[in-house]
Amino acid sequence: MPAKERKIAIMGFRSVGKSSLTIQFVEGMFVDSYDPTIEDTFERSYTSPRGQEYKLQLIDTAGQDEYSLFPTNYAMNINGYVLVFSVNSRKSFEIVQIIHEKILDQTGKQGVPCVIVGNKADLRMERVVTAEEGKALAEKWGAKYVDASAKENQYVNDVFDGIIQQIEMAEGSTSAKGCLIS
Ligand code: GDP
Ligand code: MG
Repeated sequence: MPAKERKIAIMGFRSVGKSSLTIQFVEGMFVDSYDPTIEDTFERSYTSPRGQEYKLQLIDTAGQDEYSLFPTNYAMNINGYVLVFSVNSRKSFEIVQIIHEKILDQTGKQGVPCVIVGNKADLRMERVVTAEEGKALAEKWGAKYVDASAKENQYVNDVFDGIIQQIEMAEGSTSAKGCLIS
């Protein structure tokens, strides 16, 4: 089986740990101060638990807020979205919901492959958004929720395993529909 190329956008409010999660996954380390303003694309090959090989392109976006115009290139050619908030910021959790609405608006779809990440789970004392809230939101969207820590490398792989699973599920359901029609 040839490697499938898939593009994943990492989105969320500023400073939630988008770059830290991406770099932890791609390079296996925690970079404490990464330029927050730049958008960068990272590549990694990855084999899914089902044995499918992937060439992943991870678009580590510069971050969004409630006023951001949604870039149309994030609506096209993206196979899945990792929407990150920080468990110590209620506002960042709200921004995830705003971004999700904009994605649906821009793509014209009812749902997109998506993983919601509650990052900085290591900051237990500062936590203001619970895992239950994250899970409830994910359930509402038919998405997956992961509590993670880029700093301690906790559940970072689950984030990316999760988005590949969501993408595979979405592709499986569309090809199934294709079979019904033909
Ligand atoms: P981005 O703006 O969303 O890309 O966020 P960054 O990855 O640049 O991280 C913003 C700040 O949060 C940096 O100071 C990171 O060191 C810190 N940070 C990122 N992930 C974690 C984490 O899992 N736990 C803790 N405690 N800090 C983190
Ligand atoms: Mg960043």
